[in-house]
Amino acid sequence: MSTEHLMGVYNRAPLEVDRGRGARLWGKDGTEYLDCVMGISTNALGHAHPILVRAVKDQADKLWHVSNIFKIPGQEALADALCEKSFADVVFFTNSGTEAVECALKTARKYHSANGQPERIDIYGFDGSFHGRTYGAINAAANPSYTNGFGPPMEGFHQLVWGDREALEAAFRNPTTCAVILEPVQGEGGCRVTPDEDLRWMRQMADEHGVLIIFDEVQCGMGRTGKLWAHEWAGMTPDIMAVAKALGGGFPIGACLATTEAAKGMTPGAHGSTFGGNPLAMAVGQAAFTEISRPETLANVNEIAGYLKQQLHGVAQRFPDVIVEVRGKGLLMGVKLIPNNREFMGWARDEAHLLVAGGGDNLVRILPPLNMTLDEAREAVERFEKACEFARGKLAA
Ligand SMILES: *Cc1c(COP(=O)(O)O)cnc(C)c1O
Repeated sequence: MSTEHLMGVYNRAPLEVDRGRGARLWGKDGTEYLDCVMGISTNALGHAHPILVRAVKDQADKLWHVSNIFKIPGQEALADALCEKSFADVVFFTNSGTEAVECALKTARKYHSANGQPERIDIYGFDGSFHGRTYGAINAAANPSYTNGFGPPMEGFHQLVWGDREALEAAFRNPTTCAVILEPVQGEGGCRVTPDEDLRWMRQMADEHGVLIIFDEVQCGMGRTGKLWAHEWAGMTPDIMAVAKALGGGFPIGACLATTEAAKGMTPGAHGSTFGGNPLAMAVGQAAFTEISRPETLANVNEIAGYLKQQLHGVAQRFPDVIVEVRGKGLLMGVKLIPNNREFMGWARDEAHLLVAGGGDNLVRILPPLNMTLDEAREAVERFEKACEFARGKLAA
């Protein structure tokens, strides 16, 4: 057994994962790790959460898959729950984040087409954003490292500089603009938080000019920032939103949420998916969403995030030779480093048995489960500090 027959698209860490429980992962050699990657903010309730395990087992005995040509009660129930707790009126279920983004992009273009304005095709994304790996998604983010070599750019996709209000204003005023797409808090790009007042201004401009706002909350949504949706902090709402990662608590599920108005072009035959919204996924999704959207879970995120932020700022002060800054929102935390972030991840893993994720701008991301305990958070800080000490030694050598 080796990686020989796997397409070589990943730089894999030399860690064979065997099993997990809560915030812990065990390697095949028995080493215990504290997991602050969580499948990149996907296992939001930790590994092997008993409620999710139960939901999979119960549903596995009953029914896994039927075609979407039939009514699927689990879909209706999860869509009801999502709409009750969001701006949305309708939901399309997918198997992944990138498919949720595809649905969002298609919904936006179809909206203008249904309105008799098929010329409105221009979709504006931002540098440092990440929307997934399908063609629409890589073009929407327009990050050259994901688009290079994959043929000509798709027509109607444009990238703006994050934070450049003038350029964004021009985009809103362009009569062929369809939508803007952004992550309220960037994940892969480096935990950059769009200011609340910018989001409110975007809503106002979008309304004035008939442009749709698409939020990609695949990573920052589902309680990660301490509110169910990241945009709630700004007191505004998008027209369309892509969700995934934590929605299935580790089981592959995505969803595209929209208002009735924004989804008006999505009529029978306009879109579809074989596996999207299958009964097995919906059973886990309902269980995960119920747990994550509980006020107690969100309160815990805010408590643990407050503690970690304060402690990590302390670590940053003690290690100015290792840490540049601490940023992010809630439990989507980024620590910008002086040593190479990939190298640091290896040190944290091997020397402190702490798993952290990489990120753009030479960051490591700390993405604990939303139900992390204060004791586990203390341990995470201790282990992070240990990794910093090791890094200091390496830098001095
Ligand atoms: C992970 C991610 C995606 C892509 O999700 P996949 O399930 O890998 O397709 C899209 N957008 C954001 C913000 C993400 O973090």
